[in-house]
Amino acid sequence: MGGCDKLELKLGALLDGELDSQEEQELRAHVAGCHLCRSRLQSFQVLEREAVAAFRAPEPTENEWGRIGAGIREAVAGARKTVAFPRAQRSPLIEALVPAFALAACLVIVVVIGILSRVNREPPRAPDVYSSKEYEIRVEPLAPEDEDGALWIEVTRG
Ligand SMILES: [Zn+2]
Repeated sequence: MGGCDKLELKLGALLDGELDSQEEQELRAHVAGCHLCRSRLQSFQVLEREAVAAFRAPEPTENEWGRIGAGIREAVAGARKTVAFPRAQRSPLIEALVPAFALAACLVIVVVIGILSRVNREPPRAPDVYSSKEYEIRVEPLAPEDEDGALWIEVTRG
């Protein structure tokens, strides 16, 4: 049936919610009674689900986030001992915000793990490394010669 091939284009629009209510009603009524369009709609739904799953980055579970946070706190504490923070620049507010910055940096970095793991960097100084079974967290001064206290925090899946 030639009409069904024209409707095939509309099936995608139906799934995306792009049809107006009258078009949607008519199409759904047709699909209900047409085996070809029904199976096409079903295969579109499967494709869409697979596409969504394929593009979803692996999300750490809440439990894993807890361990990442603990690892960062531990590694940052270790790095602070080795980075010389000039007394004059040390403000309590900045100090208090470091863990928040570290966590924000971690959120960003987890997203780009794939890229980071392929980049070969020469660390300027031996980094502090915290590692668990699942994650390795490296903390090192970003610019050791400036001693401005900037830290590079890298989280990778072990
Ligand atoms: Zn049909």
